[in-house]
Amino acid sequence: MTHPPSKVVKSQIVNGLSVDVEDWFQVGAFEGVIDRDSWESLSDRVERNCDAILLMFADAGVKATFFTLGWVAQRHPALLRRIVAEGHELASHGWDHARVFTMDKASFAADIERARKVLEDASGTRVTGYRAPSFSIDARTPWAYSVLAEQGYAYSSSVAPITHDHYGWRDAPRFAFRPLPWADLIEIPVTTAQFAGKRLAAGGGGFFRVLPYAFSRWAIRQVNTQDQRPAVFYFHPWEIDPAQPRVPGAPLRSKLRHYTNLDVMAEKLEQLVREFAWGRMDVLALREARLATELAA
Ligand SMILES: [Zn+2]
Repeated sequence: MTHPPSKVVKSQIVNGLSVDVEDWFQVGAFEGVIDRDSWESLSDRVERNCDAILLMFADAGVKATFFTLGWVAQRHPALLRRIVAEGHELASHGWDHARVFTMDKASFAADIERARKVLEDASGTRVTGYRAPSFSIDARTPWAYSVLAEQGYAYSSSVAPITHDHYGWRDAPRFAFRPLPWADLIEIPVTTAQFAGKRLAAGGGGFFRVLPYAFSRWAIRQVNTQDQRPAVFYFHPWEIDPAQPRVPGAPLRSKLRHYTNLDVMAEKLEQLVREFAWGRMDVLALREARLATELAA
């Protein structure tokens, strides 16, 4: 598939670009059929896929944020150092992809503390950003932000303000907000587009891969021009890997979602990173925090 070059000038707004660093066997859609205990025995593809992403970002001259699992960090310390050396931000995606609403406050605190220590030790940088696995901070986990603030995080990008069968916090704000009155912590939800009174998921993942590129282009432009706000986009290393092993016994719906368009994903991403302006999430968080302070004044 080829995409004609866009005739529209790049928007001045710098959007947030992020990669959720996990392997093909760690995704939420397969957790019912792949036991955590078997992860060690499965073929490891995350490092080579991340290297391809690093190359793509270097070619396009963009910096991004890599929200990385502690489990992956422990096994691939050299990858973490390459991410940091190339000017990207290393941030946390929790330890082993347990969703926040499956934990209580104490186990969540232990999960993110363990992940952060491994990420920081392996990379030699400080981690100040967090993304919950499967956008699993929602109305059920009011304590999550307190834990993040207590542990000194500057920002979280853990909310999908939509209704979805696996995740979503429908009533959350569409753009950055301060979830706690006593802390500077800022939440930057993944992007949605407003259409005919409805919120549509438009920040990446399966939606970007399965739907035509034109939809994402329209949605991000809409957010940049109509809403005048930055978009937040995410994808996964396994999404550019058509040769990954197939998971037998997974539900049909999960299989359809996981395997559709893997072969054209890299090409779509290349167009996306060139067509809009992109940057790291920590830089975006600083700008959004300033804006939140101005709006509150
Ligand atoms: Zn994830």
